[in-house]
Amino acid sequence: MKVAFCSSEVFPYAKTGGLGDVSAALPEDLAKAGVEVKVFMPFHKGIEPQEMHDGFGITKQGSIEVFFIKNDQYFLRDSIYVGEDGNDYPDSLERFSFYSKEVLKVLKKVNFCPDVIHSNDWQTALVNVYLKTLYKDDTFFKNTKCLLTIHNFAYQGLSVKEKFPLLGISDKFFDKEYFEFRGKVNLLKGGIVFSDIVTTVSPTYAKQIQTPEFGCGLERTLRKKGKNLIGILNAIDYTIWNPATDDFIYKKYSPDTLESKAINKTNLQRQLGLGEDKDTLFIGMVSRLAEQKGIDILSQAIDKIVSKCQLVILGVGEPRYHRILEEKAAKFKDSFSLALKFDEALAHKIYAGVDVFLLPSRFEPCGLSQMISYKYATLPLANHTGGLVDTVVDVSDGGGGFLFNNYNSSDLLSAVEEAQEVFSNKSKWQAILEKVTKFNFSWEVAAAKYIEVYKQLMN
Ligand code: ADP
Repeated sequence: MKVAFCSSEVFPYAKTGGLGDVSAALPEDLAKAGVEVKVFMPFHKGIEPQEMHDGFGITKQGSIEVFFIKNDQYFLRDSIYVGEDGNDYPDSLERFSFYSKEVLKVLKKVNFCPDVIHSNDWQTALVNVYLKTLYKDDTFFKNTKCLLTIHNFAYQGLSVKEKFPLLGISDKFFDKEYFEFRGKVNLLKGGIVFSDIVTTVSPTYAKQIQTPEFGCGLERTLRKKGKNLIGILNAIDYTIWNPATDDFIYKKYSPDTLESKAINKTNLQRQLGLGEDKDTLFIGMVSRLAEQKGIDILSQAIDKIVSKCQLVILGVGEPRYHRILEEKAAKFKDSFSLALKFDEALAHKIYAGVDVFLLPSRFEPCGLSQMISYKYATLPLANHTGGLVDTVVDVSDGGGGFLFNNYNSSDLLSAVEEAQEVFSNKSKWQAILEKVTKFNFSWEVAAAKYIEVYKQLMN
């Protein structure tokens, strides 16, 4: 079975969030299961491929080849999606239309005829569209099917309608049944319509997006996919996320040496200038600072949270959230540490050093941090939505985390209080930690599910 996997970000070459993690781990586990995989991403700034060819670079990673589609005007930029104003680049459509056409050209050039093209999110959705339009009658691709995985419906790749002709497909597709969305061009919508199967990253989110509350205007288009809309839970890569082998953390530990987690806690407290105190509940968050992530309800609750607990937030995102959090950090220097940056090393130290990891998301397609947290004997505290429903069960129901059911600051605070109470009971806390470190959210399981879907497509 041959699969071309298309993504705008693949760790370690580029990552802004979960998509980068998924696009690195899933191809690897597909390859382990015997699938022949080639990965295609844009040649972003800083990437140094092992080989250069005309128009693309290649790096071999075991049996996988990662192709970097080159266009310096489009991809040699400091940030991969947004300009300095915090908005998507105004030429997003041109950038990813170029990328998508190139992927299909390169597939032919290197004579790799995929059984399935697996695209991800709006950036690479056009690969599927071009397969079914420009390449509809091309014998090379006559048996190629396509799948689109959507990691987040809040990002749809919108452009003004004047740009539609730049896509290079028939004008008839600027229509409500295809690309048109409230007078604009919607790349994700076009991708959904043209893909043979659409998947999203958790079973609960797959249901939620068919409703107006979570569908972001695409609920009708999605409902039309019927059984060709599937939820497959994401997973995490335990070769990267494992405190027993993690070189970023202060002291390695495993389920048998959980007492060493405390060393990570005190070292992190010291590094961040917080009081070194093992009995204070230490709460952490590592997140894109986007509307989805619950910063508004968190900021309303922060004063109360930091009066009893310590808090560290690592994140970058919208300037308005930077400002809100900076104000709070200045006010609560002793108990709240804020790092407004992307920092892989600090992220690992936080997963290892804190007691509780916050995910107060308004909506969450899957969320990876809760799964990472379990491995580091850190308990997630989350809103009951999307993939968090599929992965977090409240301690009071025999699970290993804390859930709140309504998206507001007082419910969030009650969950923090619940966590504090359980934390004060050392033996109970210890027993929960021992349980969660045994949870298994490995890619092997998820990859097997994708392979099932590929097979379904090929028949
Ligand atoms: P999303 O894809 O919506 O950003 P996920 O929970 O799926 O959310 O994935 C987030 C991933 O990105 C996790 O690996 C998290 O640790 C990482 N991450 C987010 N922000 C930062 C940051 N500022 N520094 C380092 N890692 C980050």
